[in-house]
Amino acid sequence: MKQLDVKMMHPKVQITKVISRIYKNGMTTTSGGNISIKDENGDIWVTPSAIDKGTLTEKDIICVKKDGTIIGNHKPSSEFPFHKAIYDVRPEIKAVIHAHPPALVSFSIVRDIPDTNVIPQAKEICGSIGYAPYGMPGSEELGEKIAAQFKGSNNMAVIMENHGTVLGGSDLLDAYTRFETLEFCARTIINAKTIGEPVYLTDAQIEKFESQVPHDIARNEDVSYQSDEREIRQEICNIVRRACDQGLMISSYGTVSVRWKDNDFLITPPHVARWDIMPEDIVQIQGGKAEPEKTPSRSAALHQKIYELNPHINSIILTQPPYLMAYGTTGVKFDVRTIPESWIFLQDVPCLPFGVHFKGDKTIPELLSESVPSVLIANDSFLVTGDKLLQTFDRLEVAEFSAKSLVMGAPLGKLFPINDEQVEALREKFLG
Ligand SMILES: [Zn+2]
Repeated sequence: MKQLDVKMMHPKVQITKVISRIYKNGMTTTSGGNISIKDENGDIWVTPSAIDKGTLTEKDIICVKKDGTIIGNHKPSSEFPFHKAIYDVRPEIKAVIHAHPPALVSFSIVRDIPDTNVIPQAKEICGSIGYAPYGMPGSEELGEKIAAQFKGSNNMAVIMENHGTVLGGSDLLDAYTRFETLEFCARTIINAKTIGEPVYLTDAQIEKFESQVPHDIARNEDVSYQSDEREIRQEICNIVRRACDQGLMISSYGTVSVRWKDNDFLITPPHVARWDIMPEDIVQIQGGKAEPEKTPSRSAALHQKIYELNPHINSIILTQPPYLMAYGTTGVKFDVRTIPESWIFLQDVPCLPFGVHFKGDKTIPELLSESVPSVLIANDSFLVTGDKLLQTFDRLEVAEFSAKSLVMGAPLGKLFPINDEQVEALREKFLG
C-alpha cells in the first residue's frame, strides 16, 4: 500500500504522514508549520497548536466542523484562521500546507518570489505565486491578507512577508508536491546565486518541454512479467525512494531506468510521487513499446537511444538535485577535479544546452562513453549512467556531494583543483 493514499486514507492519517515527512526532511521545526484538509462535508481537519511535530499521531489531529464546533484533544493550530480564509475564497482548494522552510523564508525576508522558470517542472507544479504583506500570526488580519492573494487569482502558493509560505492543493499530495518543489526551486536559485547568476527558461521553452509527454505511445498488447523483470521493478523503487531520502529526488522529479534484456528496459512514469513509488508504477518498454495503459517518463525515447548506442550502459538516472542544478542553471563549469573520488567517479561532466534531451536528438547518446558517464543538461537535469544501478546511484551521490562542496567552498576563497599531472596519475592507477 502507498504511504499516502489521498483517496482512501482518513484526513487524520494523511495529515500525520505528511507533517512527519516535512519535519524529517528539514522543512519545518517542531513548533512551526501546520496542515489542513477540507473534507466533502466541509469539515476541516487540522494539526493542533503547540504539539511536537516530530511525534504527532492521528489522535492529535483536530476537526473544526462546518458550524465551528471543535472536536479533538487539543486546540486547533493558531494559524487556523488563514487556512479557513483560503478555503472560503477558493472552493477548489481542499488541502493547505503552511511552514517556514529555510530557503522560502530566505525569499520571504528579502521580499522576493522564486522564479520557477529555472527548471521546467517547477513552473508546471507550483503555478503562479503571490506575496502577502506581513500580519500578526494567528490574526484575522493575516487571514485576510493571505486570502486576498488567493481570491480571484490562479495563485496556488503565497510567500508570506517575514514569515514563510502557504500553499493550496486539490488534495494533500498535490499541496505537498507543490510545497516540496517550490522549496527545492528556492534552494536551487540560492545555490546558483552563490556561484554565479541563474539563467531562466522562456515560457516557450517550457511549453516545448511539456509537449514532450508522449501522447501516442506504441503499446505491447501481450506483456509478460518474468522474475528478472519483477526484480528490476523492485530495484528501481528501492533506489528512487533512497534518492528521495538523500535529497537527490523529490515528489515531482527523478527518472530511473534499467536495461532488462537487449535494448528493452524498465523506466519510471511521470506524475507519481517518487518517495511513494511502487513496483506496479514502473513501465516496461519492450521493442520500443510500452505496456498497456501506462505512461513512461517523457525521456523514455532518450533512454532507448542511449541503450541502443551504448552496450556498456545498463542503468540511467536523471534528476535535479539543488547543488548540481546550481551548475546546471548558471553555466558555471562544474569542475569535478576537487578530490580524487570525484574525478575517478565522474571525470569530466559537460554541460549541454536545454533541449538536447528532447525526442530524436542524438547529442547525449553519442557523447556518453566510459570516460563521459554523466552530463548536465542546462535548466533541466543531471543525467548519469553506469553498469549496475547501485553504481550509477553512487555516481549521482558523488556528483551532488562534489557540487555541494564547490558551492559551500565558493565564499571561502579560490578553488585549487587537482592538477593535470595528478589527474594523469589517478587515471593510470584507477582507470588504466
Ligand atoms: Zn507560521
